[in-house]
Amino acid sequence: MKKIALPSGEYVPAFGLGTWNIGDDPAARAEEIATLRLGLELGATLIDTAEMYGEGRSEELVGEAIAGRRDEAFIVTKVYPHNASRKGIPAACERSLKRLKTDRIDLYLLHWRGSIPFAETVEAFAALQKAGKIRHYGVSNLDLADMRALWKIPAGKAVAANQLLYNLARRGIEFDLLPWLRERKLPVMAYSPVEQGRLMKDARLAGFARRHGMTAAQAALAWLLAQEGVIVIPKTGNLGRLKENLGALERGLSAAQLAELDRLFPPPAGPQALEML
Ligand code: NAP
Repeated sequence: MKKIALPSGEYVPAFGLGTWNIGDDPAARAEEIATLRLGLELGATLIDTAEMYGEGRSEELVGEAIAGRRDEAFIVTKVYPHNASRKGIPAACERSLKRLKTDRIDLYLLHWRGSIPFAETVEAFAALQKAGKIRHYGVSNLDLADMRALWKIPAGKAVAANQLLYNLARRGIEFDLLPWLRERKLPVMAYSPVEQGRLMKDARLAGFARRHGMTAAQAALAWLLAQEGVIVIPKTGNLGRLKENLGALERGLSAAQLAELDRLFPPPAGPQALEML
């Protein structure tokens, strides 16, 4: 498994498992759990969830999937912005820990920027870290101006990652945010890496995948995995599609293939407002 270094020097898998909408359909539950367990076996040990997903149902399902093998997993979950206060964060964290049936979160993220000042949020994160409830903390959906504001706060500089919408069809962060994060050795967790399934219907990508003997999902994921400091977290609740997606790790793209994808999906020519889903 390809690994990515966090600023602390700890390594995490470059391929993790997304869980948005997982746990919502009782009929899909058994295969969703089996898929997360297969991911753990195959080295995709980073699991991304959030208190928001199914209002706790996704965290509960993750808790079930990691039962008896907690130490193998690197659990990422997220706090709602409206809970990201001095008092709200420890309470939200306890609820997440209970649903995940664990005593610690490996990486706890602010889901997006709300009205609570960053200083209050990161100081509450730092207190949880000191108490051993979380191992690392980070952010999600923060643009360059937000990151600069965060960087002015001592505990803000200790964030371990920024989770962002990033895929072939959403390359806006490459203009300024991604270079800024790279300079500070902060990894990006690329969410919706297959654009929630829409990229597989893109004729440009389908043509590329056909020409190079891979599936469209593998091409989309292999392209992200070729970017420095990027972790992908595709979601699937299907065993076959997980194996297909993991196949992207074996499909290292050549310089010529990367140039072809640049022609099909051009990088940004100027600054763009941060997109989110
Ligand atoms: P995604 O991973 O780009 O796409 C997931 C969708 O694509 C699912 O419907 C899945 O269906 C389908 N899919 C996956 N692999 C496939 C394949 N090989 N062939 C065909 N269909 C395939 O979108 P996402 O779930 O939005 O993003 C991934 C994760 O990022 C989320 O689950 C969540 O953990 C995180 N996220 C974070 C934020 C944030 O604000 N921080 C926002 C969005 C997402 P099946 O399950 O049926 O395979």
